[in-house]
Amino acid sequence: MKLDTKCVQAGYEPKNGDPRVLPIVQSTTFVYDTAETMGKLFDLEADGFFYTRLANPTLDTVAKKIAALEGGVGAMLTASGQAASLISITNIAKTGDHIIASAAIYGGTFNLFNKTLRDLGIDFDFVSPTISADELAACFKPNTKAVFIETVTNPSLDVVDIEMFAKVAHAHKVPLIVDNTFATPINCRPIEWGADIVVHSTSKYMDGHAVALGGVVVDSGNFDWTQGDFPMLTTPDETYHGVVYTEQFGRSAYIVKCCTHLMRDLGAQQSPQNAFLLNLGLETLHLRMPRHCANAQAAAEFLETNPNVEWVNYPGLPSNKYYDIAKKYMPNGSCGVISVGIKGGKEGAARFMEALKLAKIVIHVADARTCVLHPATTTHRQLSEQQLIDAGIAPNMIRLSVGIEDPEDIIADLKQALEQV
Ligand SMILES: *Cc1c(COP(=O)(O)O)cnc(C)c1O
Repeated sequence: MKLDTKCVQAGYEPKNGDPRVLPIVQSTTFVYDTAETMGKLFDLEADGFFYTRLANPTLDTVAKKIAALEGGVGAMLTASGQAASLISITNIAKTGDHIIASAAIYGGTFNLFNKTLRDLGIDFDFVSPTISADELAACFKPNTKAVFIETVTNPSLDVVDIEMFAKVAHAHKVPLIVDNTFATPINCRPIEWGADIVVHSTSKYMDGHAVALGGVVVDSGNFDWTQGDFPMLTTPDETYHGVVYTEQFGRSAYIVKCCTHLMRDLGAQQSPQNAFLLNLGLETLHLRMPRHCANAQAAAEFLETNPNVEWVNYPGLPSNKYYDIAKKYMPNGSCGVISVGIKGGKEGAARFMEALKLAKIVIHVADARTCVLHPATTTHRQLSEQQLIDAGIAPNMIRLSVGIEDPEDIIADLKQALEQV
């Protein structure tokens, strides 16, 4: 199947007489005839569903579709993007371990890493998204377990050299984890560039309509955990009668451990209803993404010529420092999000935002409706002045998430609001 067909059809294979549309299996639990069959499920000796916190047919089907889109061996849905990032790290790292992460990552991910996971004893080094291979290599320690980056960052729109990060990570026998939320597999498939694990906030373009919170972890199946130092995958798990994930599950070791161990213990499961809504979104992802990109391109080009605009940051503009690298990794466009610096500082940005009519002020980003946000006073308000600069966030920066309306209406709204700055 080609990518567009996978969006519509992958994952769900109805048999004779089954519903044509993926059913919502709204049941926490599943019936078995004997204790023995159930025991086998508990010991991971048989495949099947017994409790929705561990697995559910609706979730499983949607996860399969996303794995197919990203080109992975398996995937696991989570209750949110945050849960996906949390599990992607804690599946292989614990107290005393070290992670290298790009400094240009989503603010929520930064807090999760820099505060919560640090408090739990995992050490982080944050590096520039434009770090050189040599500088990156110098950041590795004997206890480094992963490198974490974001394809196109929310909201600074940095584009990272995925291939370089993957090469350096692999040279140090650790996996590369990529948050691919903004690009989506329609515009970039990090596994094709060497990424080992891909995570998403499906709350954004994948759902696409701002109706269902969710996340996903995708395993490429390509990383050889036995070559590095990953005892959590290569030594017996006593909670499953000594199963060794790499021995029993081979290429799927990482994702099986995510589903059976961490989801069991952390319980950050997505609801079947949300997975159903996510699946509806995925069915049109291949149609929506090109429109988001085309509209954003038109809006960015308009903004760049307006006298009340100080700067425009969009990887699709030839003036952008990431133009070439974005063309390499995302030849069909990056995403629908633009960041723009409005004249008049923080106040100018606020006046512009409040004058918009079609574009509404919301925290959310990356759905069908055009929306705006002022990160310095909202999503990133907990960051210090220096952390804001490191994350590429200026006080007058507005994040504009361009929807799939008619581009002329979007531009007319921007134009009238800029006249009021
Ligand atoms: C929103 C977002 C997240 C967090 O996802 P939630 O679904 O809100 O928990 C993670 N990464 C990126 C890039 C995001 O935009």
